[in-house]
Amino acid sequence: MGKPIVAIVGRPNVGKSTLFNKLAGKRISIVQDTPGVTRDRVYAEAEWLRYNFTIIDTGGIEPESEDIIVSQMRRQAQIAIETADVIIFIVDGKEGLTGADKEVAQMLRKSKKPIVLVVNKVDSLKEENNAFEFYNLGIGDPITISASQGLGLGDMLDKVVEHFGDIDDEAVDDEIIRIAFMGKPNVGKSSLINRLLGEERVIVSDVPGTTRDAVDSYLETELGKFILIDTAGLRRKSKVKEEIERYSVVRTLAAIEKADVCILMIDVEEGVTEQDEKIVGYAHEMNKAIMVIVNKWDLVEKDDKTMDKYKKELEMKLKFLNYASYLFISAKTGQRVHKVLEMAKECYDNYCRRISTGILNEVINKAVLMKEPPVVGVKRLKIYYVTQVGIKPPTFVFFVNDYKALHFSYERYLENQLRSSFDFKGTGIKLQFRERNEKND
Ligand code: GDP
Ligand code: GDP
Repeated sequence: MGKPIVAIVGRPNVGKSTLFNKLAGKRISIVQDTPGVTRDRVYAEAEWLRYNFTIIDTGGIEPESEDIIVSQMRRQAQIAIETADVIIFIVDGKEGLTGADKEVAQMLRKSKKPIVLVVNKVDSLKEENNAFEFYNLGIGDPITISASQGLGLGDMLDKVVEHFGDIDDEAVDDEIIRIAFMGKPNVGKSSLINRLLGEERVIVSDVPGTTRDAVDSYLETELGKFILIDTAGLRRKSKVKEEIERYSVVRTLAAIEKADVCILMIDVEEGVTEQDEKIVGYAHEMNKAIMVIVNKWDLVEKDDKTMDKYKKELEMKLKFLNYASYLFISAKTGQRVHKVLEMAKECYDNYCRRISTGILNEVINKAVLMKEPPVVGVKRLKIYYVTQVGIKPPTFVFFVNDYKALHFSYERYLENQLRSSFDFKGTGIKLQFRERNEKND
């Protein structure tokens, strides 16, 4: 189960992006070679007190007229209601209450989602009075902020994280593996899901708390319990092209955030598209277990080398996913469909793998003996001790003399050693380095 999702909703120009950028701060992690992630600021990681959460900016498109604003805001609010755990509804303290604000407030109120009402552009104390009229919206006490000056953000975040406690904890059942199926329309997501649901002769039912998303299916097999999440929202119609794209990205991101294993489905005849790279890039950024399924394998004329060749091409394209598992199937004929859940379960197990400190240090000591760290500048890296501090994905802390002495090639070497000693197929792993004085050892 992923981090809580906080969506920002509000009229154009109220300051959504300004707030978003402030919250995303410097902590947004940017993996150099993940395509699309840095360009597109729909989504960011944020942190307040001991909470980590994901923020989504649902806005983004500039509408030309007042009636479009209203219809667009309705859609924004709808997306936020569907995907977010807490909604920040932001209004403009300088402009005052508008009709569009009232409409959205009504929708949000009906949704029963936790709402934090924020009045932006209250740049000084004497403008505090501007907030009073927003009590009329009937969604609680407005909090005044100045996004551009960074005022009031702490109070606002306190309110936001307060609601995390009320989130329906679907995660109670930690044994359920959540799988998100990502991919363009027509790659065969629903065909595959239907097959998985049908073939396994299983109980297909509603799980309490998961009904909010109509496209989730629950499934139990001898492998375990699964929730299959179809990101089919992608096909929803809208007149504005960018709007469809942004909203489908938001929906998909929310599905990824709630998933353990993300499956990118590709149509063998189409190959990987830019949109695929971007979406799977997000899954990678969000530290999910990842599988790539090439579907419609029945359409390919092949010999014994075709699969290997195809796989190599894919790996070249998706370089940053060097850990992903690949599977070639036909949802139509059923070829290798029985492997899908098996492989997803393997990825998940690896994603949750814990290595005991003793064995871990043995492996690393041996690795260092086999290949000494290079001298960087005037120093040579010394590793005192390694320990695993987390799972999902497995995260290791290396205590070292001086991390400036860490050469990236040596970090890669250490990761490869871990990967060849333990099964981490299908999951990223994280290596962190902390300095520690030898005398504290
Ligand atoms: P969005 O369309 O809702 O994403 O709004 P933007 O974040 O792009 O902001 C719209 C305009 O409002 C920009 O010119 C911002 O500089 C300005 N703005 C944002 N926050 C504040 C604020 O706290 N005070 C003032 N005075 N202006 C702000
Ligand atoms: P979705 O939009 O990703 O959910 O894709 P669908 O499951 O609706 O499938 C789109 C189309 O591709 C349908 O006409 C399917 O019959 C077809 N299709 C799905 N899987 C396969 C496959 O493995 N082989 C072939 N030849 N067609 C497939």
